[in-house]
Amino acid sequence: MNTLTPPRTGKVYLIGAGPGDPELLTLKAVRVLGLCDVLLVDDLADTAVLAHARPDARIVRVGKRGGCRSTPQAFIERLMLRYARSGHVVGRVKGGDPFVFGRGGEEMLTLRKAGIACEVVSGLSAGIAVPATLGVPVTHRGSACGVTFVTGHAREDGVPGQEPDWAALARCGTTLVIYMGMRTLPRIADALQAGGLPAGTPACAIQNGTRGDQRSVVATLATLPQAVADAQLGSPAIVVIGEVVNLADIAEQAEALSMRA
Ligand code: SAH
Repeated sequence: MNTLTPPRTGKVYLIGAGPGDPELLTLKAVRVLGLCDVLLVDDLADTAVLAHARPDARIVRVGKRGGCRSTPQAFIERLMLRYARSGHVVGRVKGGDPFVFGRGGEEMLTLRKAGIACEVVSGLSAGIAVPATLGVPVTHRGSACGVTFVTGHAREDGVPGQEPDWAALARCGTTLVIYMGMRTLPRIADALQAGGLPAGTPACAIQNGTRGDQRSVVATLATLPQAVADAQLGSPAIVVIGEVVNLADIAEQAEALSMRA
């Protein structure tokens, strides 16, 4: 053995797998998935993306749903470091885009601190692609001059003061796209109305967007929480609030899904 050969250094790719429809994966994600020795896969990433993995790749599910207790973030990061330090090419596969509510920033910082190469493969975020399935553009000339992506829940570790300023958002005049907002939807709707957003503002919620089991309701800011409860919509879902929701076309969604079936 040549003891002078330096150890192969590993690398971590933070890969965005898009919102669910496997056709919404980027060409780069497909190529990089095929390079990885190990894939650490979040459960929001559709299983179909793994068709692009090498047959001999080790697949580790680190999902937070599916009846399992969440895999603590620190454990996932330790795993990532361990594989990379032992020379593996690691793919950290996340739903949507790794840098949009995906904890990709934290993982990149951990890798940077450890001196491990890290590359981000951007993915299509649910906040853009999921409303589009109903024909809802998140910006639209004349009805929304911008869009605000916001989380509906404070930090998982419960640090106070991390809750979005709903009163300020009520006045900001952009489309609001809320991730992780289903549990707190009634409170969010109240806070936005208290902040001055009219009760009749069009609003919708879309669960499992771009997947075969997509479901949605279109209502108003005031009626959305009840409509969501009546339809028994749950996570993962995107909530969109703003005039652009007037363009929603449920028939369009049904047609698109039947074409995929
Ligand atoms: N990084 C992801 C977001 C992760 S946070 C992205 O860029 O899309 C998880 C939240 O994303 C979910 O609670 C839900 O609000 C939203 N989400 C992700 N995929 C979704 C989908 N297919 N349909 C609806 N909402 C989705």
